[in-house]
Amino acid sequence: MTVILRGHNFKYEIEAVCKLFFPVRSFSFLCLEGSEQYSDPGGDIIVLTREITGESTRLSVFSRLGESSDSLSESISSEAPDFEKACEFILCRLLFMLLRKATGASPEWGMLTGVRPVKLISGLKASGMSDEEICSQLEKNCFVSREKTLLALKTAENQSALISATPKNSVSLYVSIPFCPSRCAYCSFVSQTVAGFYRLMPEYVRRLCEEISLVGEIVRSEGLVLDAVYFGGGTPTSLSAEDLETVMRAVSKSFDLSRLREYTVEAGRPDTVTPEKLRAILDNGGDRISVNPQTLTQSVLDAIGRRHTVEEFFSAYEAAERAGFKRINVDLIAGLPTDSFSGFEKSLRGVLELSPANITVHALSIKRSADLMQGGSETLSAAETSKMIALSNALLSERGYSPYYLYRQKNQLGNQENVGWEIGGTAGVYNVNIMEEIQTVLAVGAGASTKVVSGGKIARFYNPKYPLEYLKKFDETVAARKREAAKKISEALLNDDLNGRAENEEK
Ligand code: SF4
Repeated sequence: MTVILRGHNFKYEIEAVCKLFFPVRSFSFLCLEGSEQYSDPGGDIIVLTREITGESTRLSVFSRLGESSDSLSESISSEAPDFEKACEFILCRLLFMLLRKATGASPEWGMLTGVRPVKLISGLKASGMSDEEICSQLEKNCFVSREKTLLALKTAENQSALISATPKNSVSLYVSIPFCPSRCAYCSFVSQTVAGFYRLMPEYVRRLCEEISLVGEIVRSEGLVLDAVYFGGGTPTSLSAEDLETVMRAVSKSFDLSRLREYTVEAGRPDTVTPEKLRAILDNGGDRISVNPQTLTQSVLDAIGRRHTVEEFFSAYEAAERAGFKRINVDLIAGLPTDSFSGFEKSLRGVLELSPANITVHALSIKRSADLMQGGSETLSAAETSKMIALSNALLSERGYSPYYLYRQKNQLGNQENVGWEIGGTAGVYNVNIMEEIQTVLAVGAGASTKVVSGGKIARFYNPKYPLEYLKKFDETVAARKREAAKKISEALLNDDLNGRAENEEK
């Protein structure tokens, strides 16, 4: 589809709105000066024009999709406050209305395209708006359904106690283990298979421990409090029990864990869970684990290349319970290829029978780099996925679970969301901190990004993406980035503004 931008270059947001309606199509953008002409490329086309004529500015959108064409326009004063933002917003809004009419689709999050709608809504609440005002403003201006706004409001409410209990000058530690036993068909992550990296694993573990110790020194010398630890990936339990123990010991040696509110180790792939690894996690301070079936239908697991069985999930879950874990998270995905509404319902009810403390329900996100896309996406249905998400929101609430964190990804089927649910006050501290961007996260390992929150802004320090690059550039890049992060933290402490809520960049 060709998208022509005349008299402006609001490509990023315009593309995000186009993708709400056409998640797997590609767009070719053409930017023209206001008066510049173009020759019709044929096929589907959208033209978004800004014409500034003295005091008045006309914003218009034309679409030709298949056989039908349509247009909408609006004028504003050229002196309007925050003129560029106002023009961008109006063009996105007109485009949204045109595409909604042309496709018949009505995305429930309306034209909100940001990752963190809860952060946006918390900002509106903090400005003094009532829940009712927030619902009606988002519905009127951005076409967000009442159900979604209420879900975000409930999530914001459930987070608030946890956020206000965040210790002053605290940080979280993220440990990246970017390895998995095999690649899932929907994965777009840089994770490598353990077998493929086997030879270099001892070196990775050694460097990772070195980086952990570096970060420990920063935390000690700046007098920071370690609030949460999160081992993610990839699949951290892809490591052998010995390697996992080595890395976790490096954490307990380098940090004071006495004020930790949470220590999570993801054990996403049930086929990587062993009694020895569970013991290693518990013995080294871990108190929360994630064991993820994604679905309880074997044929769907086979279709997505998970290479484990439904029975293996149940055995891993029971082993974690037997070992003594009180907080277990279970992930499910709505919209998996070959799944069905009834299959998803069976998975959800099956997981509920286990009564886990946390259940996270994701809507499948379609990424171009995923193996899934190579075979096309015709088996996936946005409407079915939306029904699955509606069911999970209703059923989990009915069973006493509360939403405690929520985020959206690009190209999610049905433009839905991912929601973490908890029961009995077991909300995941790290998940809330990272999603609401209220706390500095010191991240170690390949692909990890350290985020220093200060003065309403976030400074990011990236580690090399791939494990091999991480090992090769350890001294020149990884250690150097940590020194830069430490400097930023020192400055923030001097100004007494480490953490707090970073400015809202969300739409
Ligand atoms: S477990 Fe997660 S990171 Fe690993 S291959 Fe599957 S989707 Fe990717």
